[in-house]
Amino acid sequence: MAKIFCIANQKGGVGKTTTAVNLAAGLAKVGQRVLMVDLDPQGNATMGSGIDKRKLDMTVYDVLLESSSVAEARVHSEKCGYDILGANRELAGAEVELVEVERREKRLKLALASIDADYDFILIDCPPSLSMLTLNGLCCAHGVIVPMQCEYFALEGLTDLVNTIKQVHANLNKDLKIIGLLRVMFDPRITLQQQVSEQLKGHFGEKVFNTVIPRNVRLAEAPSYGLPGVVFDPSSKGAQAFITFAEEMVQRIKTM
Ligand code: ADP
Ligand code: MG
Repeated sequence: MAKIFCIANQKGGVGKTTTAVNLAAGLAKVGQRVLMVDLDPQGNATMGSGIDKRKLDMTVYDVLLESSSVAEARVHSEKCGYDILGANRELAGAEVELVEVERREKRLKLALASIDADYDFILIDCPPSLSMLTLNGLCCAHGVIVPMQCEYFALEGLTDLVNTIKQVHANLNKDLKIIGLLRVMFDPRITLQQQVSEQLKGHFGEKVFNTVIPRNVRLAEAPSYGLPGVVFDPSSKGAQAFITFAEEMVQRIKTM
């Protein structure tokens, strides 16, 4: 049975997609079977895994509306080493279309149940909102990975997400918890970042992952080649950090 994790933070540009594709590639590198689900209509995780979102016949949109199964809609990336359930602009419509249907927040959960034996990890790249799409992700996950930059308002921004996770835990998915906060785009030369990092550890303790992802230009360049940094330049500092993070996740799920 796969362990399912959402990569979520309602802020945009905090490193969710970078975390999703690089963790997927890192896990694949250390021998794990991985499915990455793109739940963002921007389709960045799809493109960043070398899959052209405009050429997909079936996407997570069709799965949410039950017009196709995950087995039919997933594609494999040979270069990246994992499977992808892709997304494109069509997915933006699902938000409205799902309002009408039954069990609307459980659609993804039901769909993933049919293929969950095929994987060790299923990673879900969430959109920058606490919408019906994100809710579908949270309903099927065992845990949430929260990427965050160590900036002044970092802690404040977490309150809404933590409250949403508490509500989903209470009403829809009693398995759900925050697995950890991942410090990303970290620059140790910036004193403020060190201070916020210490504050985070003080506040969240064990919930802060040991691995820190540095700010690294190779991670930012990789998407334009349709690759995760881990595949694009495996020896770069950013890629190395994500491989270490993948190993940390493999250890974490042993105690879950
Ligand atoms: P989100 O999915 O939360 O919107 P992204 O993963 O798309 O965020 O990241 C936002 C931008 O920051 C992208 O241009 C990405 O390439 C860049 N970025 C993310 N992580 C890093 C990093 N560790 N070092 C340098 N650039 C990064
Ligand atoms: Mg994104």
